[in-house]
Amino acid sequence: MLSNVSKKVKVHNFSAGPGILPEEVLQEAAEACINFDNLNLSLLEISHRSKNYEKVMEEARQLVLDHFEVSADEYDVIYLGGGASLQFAMVPYNFLKNKAAYVNTGVWASKAIKEAKLLGNVDVVASSEDKKFGYIPKNFQVGNDYDYLHITSNNTIYGTQYKTFPKVNVPLVCDMSSDIFSRKIDAKQFSLIYAGAQKNMGPAGATMIMIRKDFLEKSKTGLLTMLDYKTHIKAGSMFNTPPVFPVYVVMLTLRWLKKMGGVSAIEKINEEKARLLYAEIDRNSMFEGTVIAKEDRSNMNVCFRLKNEALESEFDKLWKEANISGIRGHRDVGGYRASLYNALPIESVKVLVEVMQEFERKFA
Ligand SMILES: *Cc1c(COP(=O)(O)O)cnc(C)c1O
Repeated sequence: MLSNVSKKVKVHNFSAGPGILPEEVLQEAAEACINFDNLNLSLLEISHRSKNYEKVMEEARQLVLDHFEVSADEYDVIYLGGGASLQFAMVPYNFLKNKAAYVNTGVWASKAIKEAKLLGNVDVVASSEDKKFGYIPKNFQVGNDYDYLHITSNNTIYGTQYKTFPKVNVPLVCDMSSDIFSRKIDAKQFSLIYAGAQKNMGPAGATMIMIRKDFLEKSKTGLLTMLDYKTHIKAGSMFNTPPVFPVYVVMLTLRWLKKMGGVSAIEKINEEKARLLYAEIDRNSMFEGTVIAKEDRSNMNVCFRLKNEALESEFDKLWKEANISGIRGHRDVGGYRASLYNALPIESVKVLVEVMQEFERKFA
């Protein structure tokens, strides 16, 4: 029995990443660590080539197609180690032949640009660096002669998010690490989507990559085996030992999402959570949002700060007393950041809003 490892106190976990996972997923994962599939063996001590694990990998790949509403005829799905950061290198390594276009919307986008520049010609076709990444660039032009355009759908550190995606005539590549499966999108506009699992779809250690088959055909040849997408796709994401346990927990999380009603159901809850918190930030005389363009504010990472930063320790005391965790802003930005990932219940947002109201009553 695992009842002795259950959580003793309800903590409202707003961590930006690794982020909150559903309680039932954690319970099932904990059980699989001891006795997986009634094999009387731990998932951590069986072969990734066993029938039982092959089913896990199969389902983890299929659930991505299901949630994106695309078919295995059009797209391949793989899971790799190395984080989203390895994809900053693998995307240009596989697809940058002539030149690539990038949009710079923050720290992660900048890191992707840095890697691509090491491998070929890169044009930054739009950037919001001029205003501390406080908005999403719009209406920029991308010529037809680029191998691809790379964007970051949600900027985890600055709290901005594309609400619509650029319409371009070149393959669209997207880092969706921090808002994958948080809202309904038309996945078919993308040629490649990647996401480190630890923000919104599982634990750290696995990165999901979904690639359109006709885009894959354009990839370069003569690549290093392990860094070639084709290697992993041909082998069903089992060329070498995959991140066995992280992929299993991703599978459980995507199953949970299906049980919740899927992406369109979770989107409604996510919108309500974000609406509640932004409404309080805008109403409360003690706080201000840090994103300049309100229409670009992220529904996943809500960034705000105190108008009087000298009161930070007082505010910190209040939210810690309410069992809130993980709302300190990124070290580059400061202030506060509440991450509202899929697994965060709306009750946690209500607790944070109450704390903000109490803070105003006490210190305004
Ligand atoms: C966290 C994050 C990354 C980096 O992910 P790693 O898995 O740590 O490499 C990349 N892009 C975005 C948008 C992120 O939020």
